[in-house]
Order: sequence, then structure tokens, then C-alpha cells
Amino acid sequence: MLTSCILALTLFSRPASVPEVALQPLGDVDAGVVEGLARELSSFFGLSVAVLPHEPLPESAYYAPRGRYRAEDLVSFLDQVTSSAIPHVLGVTSRDISAPKGEIADWGVLGVARLGGRPGIVSTYRLRAGGASDALFAARLDRVAAHELGHTLGLPHCDAPRCLMNDARGRIRSVDASTGLCARCARALAERTSRFNSSQAPSRASARTP
Ligand SMILES: [Zn+2]
Ligand SMILES: [Zn+2]
Repeated sequence: MLTSCILALTLFSRPASVPEVALQPLGDVDAGVVEGLARELSSFFGLSVAVLPHEPLPESAYYAPRGRYRAEDLVSFLDQVTSSAIPHVLGVTSRDISAPKGEIADWGVLGVARLGGRPGIVSTYRLRAGGASDALFAARLDRVAAHELGHTLGLPHCDAPRCLMNDARGRIRSVDASTGLCARCARALAERTSRFNSSQAPSRASARTP
């Protein structure tokens, strides 16, 4: 019994040097943008967030007919190339990404993540829509990334229209309408990550947008 307890502790203990969340820049993505996102996610979730060395986008995920990368393939790639000791890994790319949606085989998306799993991916490709300023671009990225990270932390989609976990379905207007986590999602997240302070809204992600 004691042996199995020690084994369980060993399996679930994480060396202090291993972050709780890692951002993986994929392909040509601005380093300053990724660093800013890491700081924001760390302050919002109360988790340690590190930035991994840049990796090229895997050609195996490229969908030539639309010039996009398949989000599901990128998520699987991230799961394979990053250390399994890191509980959550979020890829960041500037290229357009897509996923199947109902009968549509290739639907452009802002991000994808495994619910309660390790990997997720976000794309900055659509975040300049409408001639967004740098501040709005950053706020959109924070929201999309917090949404996907929320999925990996076990939060499903939420029906509350302005909740961060509402399904944007690829629409930037839905992202702009978000005002943070609704009370129910904030409670659910606080149960999963004890350092999440549900009363503390993300500074950039909760900024007012048009
Ligand atoms: Zn989602
Ligand atoms: Zn919610």
C-alpha cells in the first residue's frame, strides 16, 4: 500500500523547473506577442507559464487546397514534440488553421484544444480583422488563448453569451463581446486550479472593445 502511494506521488509530482503551462511558438510568430501572452495567461490563471523554443510548423499538417494548417494535426504534433511532464501546452501560430465543422470539412477557426487534455493551439491569423489596433489584437489573443487553455483545464463550452467559454465558432465578434468568465465557469475553474482567483479578471482580456 505504501509502495503504491509513493509511486502515485512520484507520478504526480512535477519538478519545480517544469512549468504548468508552456506556450509553443510554431512557425513565423512574433516573439514579443508570445511573451506578452505568457504574462497575461499566468496572471489570469495563477499558473506558471513558460515559452518554449520556436518550432517550425509541421508540413504534415498543411492543407494545400486552402493554404491552411489542420488544427487537429497541430494539436497531435504538439502532444508528441513537447515534454509530457508539462501539464498543458498551447501552440501559437500566425498561419490560418482549420477544423471540420458539421458537414464542412475545412472551417477556419481561431483555436482548438483537447477538453481536459494537454495540448491546444491558437492562431493570430484572424485577430487583425476590422483593422484592429495592437491593443485589440492583444486582447483578442488573450481571450482566444484563455478559452483554449480553459478547455485543457476541463472547462466545456458555456451558453452564457458573454462568457469567455462561449463557443465563438470562428467569429471575431463573439470574441470581442466576451467580458471574462461567467460566475459558473469561474467557480468550476477555481475548483480545478486552486490558485485561480475568480474575482480577478484578466487585465487585457477583459478590456472594453468596440
Ligand atoms: Zn471552444
Ligand atoms: Zn461560462
